[in-house]
Amino acid sequence: MPECASCSAELKPEWKYCIYCGTPVVPGAIRPEPVERPRISTLAVVIYVLVLVAAVLGLVWLATWIFSGGIPLSNAL
Ligand SMILES: [Zn+2]
Repeated sequence: MPECASCSAELKPEWKYCIYCGTPVVPGAIRPEPVERPRISTLAVVIYVLVLVAAVLGLVWLATWIFSGGIPLSNAL
């Protein structure tokens, strides 16, 4: 098993890059700068959370509506 020169992780021969640190799997290759991991943008996180909250609130509202008699169960099924 080859080892990552940067993080010493075990590498599979077919890998072209270390999946852990992004260092190219080339014997003797030197990569001076560490690979920056892709970051999820703050906006994406905010949107994701908002959608999640909206979905949960929607489900709660729907359940409340149904169980409070909004839809007779015989009709809903
Ligand atoms: Zn590595």
